[in-house]
Amino acid sequence: MNVSYFITSLLDQLMAQMVYILPVLVLVTLFKSRWFKGKLGEFLVNTSAKLRLDDKIYHLIKNVTLPTEDGTTQIDHIIVSIYGVFVIETKNMKGWIFGGKDQRTWTQKIFKESHKFQNPLFQNYKHTQTLKELLQLNDQQIHSVIAFMGEATFKTEMPENVTQGGGYVRYIKSKITPVLTESEVKAIIEKIEQGRLISSWKTDRAHVAHLNEKSAERMNQNLCPKCGAVMVLREVKKGENAGKQFWGCTGYPRCRGVREYYDSISTQ
Ligand SMILES: [Zn+2]
Repeated sequence: MNVSYFITSLLDQLMAQMVYILPVLVLVTLFKSRWFKGKLGEFLVNTSAKLRLDDKIYHLIKNVTLPTEDGTTQIDHIIVSIYGVFVIETKNMKGWIFGGKDQRTWTQKIFKESHKFQNPLFQNYKHTQTLKELLQLNDQQIHSVIAFMGEATFKTEMPENVTQGGGYVRYIKSKITPVLTESEVKAIIEKIEQGRLISSWKTDRAHVAHLNEKSAERMNQNLCPKCGAVMVLREVKKGENAGKQFWGCTGYPRCRGVREYYDSISTQ
């Protein structure tokens, strides 16, 4: 083997290696770039729910409009499953995040600049309460989840439903007790997707207002607050209140409507 042959074959080998090394170098540079990190963040927000939560079990609904006292509000993501309804509030923030469960405002700090923002748990509480009322769910059936995206770092201890990156997926998956049936899940999805939330909210409000009016009327006439029947004066037979008088519904035992005695004297 002569020297020139040796060098040529060495160069050949190097060139062959470069074919592999070059793309790797390009990829490494790309992965390190700010652009890529930004894209990656976006990608995670948009697809991690799809990628990591089985869509046969978890149904993602985006941009849900909810009614409020003074108009409407938007929920970015709702995930409906037999493990409950997950109401997700996403926060696209970087820097250091300071906050506590019961603090009204939280702080974001980037270098020396700090910025206050509303406690996202409070913000999402309104969403979950409205949704709970509209879908007639109990506390076990609805979950509030805060998902910080971007490069935020928590600098204070956060409750487990305040998550970072893909943490919200882990949180959702940690709920393993079924609290809704398949048909309830279906009904909830339909109700949300058909945009029936606002109309049913208006009906609810009107209904409550009507009930309040009706019960005020009954109060004035000393009628049973529950069914509107005539009330009669009765006496407590047993217990520490024995001997005390009260108004009881004449529909007893079918109706157990009562009123305190003193509170009706003024209306007589
Ligand atoms: Zn009654």
